[in-house]
Amino acid sequence: MSRIYLDPKDMPKSWYNIMADLPFKMDPYINPATMKPLQPDDMSAIFPPALIEQEISVKREIAIPTDVLDMLSLWRPTPLLRARNLEKALGTPAKIFYKYEGTAPAGSHKANTAVAQVYYNKIAGIKQLTTETGAGQWGSSVAYAAKHFGLGCTIYMVKVSFTQKPYRSSFMRMFGANVIPSPSNTTQAGRDVLAVDPDTPGSLGTAIGEAVEAAIQNKDTNYTLGSVLNHVLLHQTVIGLEAQKQMESVGEYPDTVIACAGGGSNFGGIAFPFLRDKINGKELRAIAVEPASCPTLTKGKYTYDYGDTASLTPIMKMYTLGKDFTPPAIHAGGLRFHGMSPAVSALMKNGLIEAEIAHQSDIFKYGMMFAHTEGIVPAPESCHAISSVCRKALECIEKGKTETILFNLSGNGFFDFPAYDAYVDGKLTDYEYSEEDVAKSMANLPKVNK
Ligand SMILES: *Cc1c(COP(=O)(O)O)cnc(C)c1O
Repeated sequence: MSRIYLDPKDMPKSWYNIMADLPFKMDPYINPATMKPLQPDDMSAIFPPALIEQEISVKREIAIPTDVLDMLSLWRPTPLLRARNLEKALGTPAKIFYKYEGTAPAGSHKANTAVAQVYYNKIAGIKQLTTETGAGQWGSSVAYAAKHFGLGCTIYMVKVSFTQKPYRSSFMRMFGANVIPSPSNTTQAGRDVLAVDPDTPGSLGTAIGEAVEAAIQNKDTNYTLGSVLNHVLLHQTVIGLEAQKQMESVGEYPDTVIACAGGGSNFGGIAFPFLRDKINGKELRAIAVEPASCPTLTKGKYTYDYGDTASLTPIMKMYTLGKDFTPPAIHAGGLRFHGMSPAVSALMKNGLIEAEIAHQSDIFKYGMMFAHTEGIVPAPESCHAISSVCRKALECIEKGKTETILFNLSGNGFFDFPAYDAYVDGKLTDYEYSEEDVAKSMANLPKVNK
């Protein structure tokens, strides 16, 4: 049997907060206006009280509200599968398991935090939400959750994705969202970027700046973020908590846990519950996989940086390529954020996790192989994880050893066919990030580092 279900009554009732178990201290966020450690109140212009509390909480378990559980139960627990056909095609002795998050409404893990974030904003009396979206899964998840809870939303979508993935904005608009390609001339943050480079493909950093600016200006409007922050990764731990129970139900435990990493949320979601075991002495490798064209963890610097181009967000200690880094438009696989979750970054810095890069020819090659063997079209982001899994599985043949690998299939790729077309037509070339661009962007680090 390939599918390993979890009984709905065994769905996690609490999120797991890794902050309770970290064997090191996290550096505080810095307020960009004062350059002093950020106070919880500093975030109240854009976040509701419950999310601010979760952002700084060190409580190990945080109960999931009933209204959120009810929403999650529409698609959770998600299935865990053994990739038997992929194993056979690779000829590997490795056992490959994957947690499939593509069964959520917008086809990716992002809905897990969207429903929680929109819920907490609703009970705080907020009427409107703003957010950014890159490839579009986050915007789609927010649009869906906002429609359910009766809030309006405006979504700044990175221009290159807006053009490359038209059906994502159709999805968002169908759920009532106002979708604006970013940079736009509706905000100062957008106008500033357009003034310098009117033809820019846009970046998540710029779209975040636009969304934050729009939220600060209206009292009944808050901002939501789809990755990076502690509370977002917290909400994603349902993935790993379910996977632990499912693996246990078939008498397995992973040697290696693998996920792709853009801002770090699907990686944190699957890995944090297992990293709790590792911190408590269990042997385990956790590997984050990132694109060669935006290699934050592997080639970035661990330092304080802004989350956005306009320097409006709190300054965070993280691996970063600099807030002005814009991955080239030719890069088709998502995962374009210049920074990385501070929690994932600190785990990397302290040697508890590892990171690898993947090239786009490899990610689509193994992504296609996965689709052909397992029957699910993976999101290009998830293909980064798949390529790494396949490489490990092939190594097992060479080394004549077996290994149990668990990876997060963070979403499906049903809106990503232009990228697959480009691959099938031989139009995708590999691209290394430009060291010159990074150096330029790193010149703009906040002064707090000096
Ligand atoms: C957004 C997204 C990612 C990347 O974001 P993380 O926060 O790093 O998880 C990966 N896969 C899918 C399917 C996504 O939608």
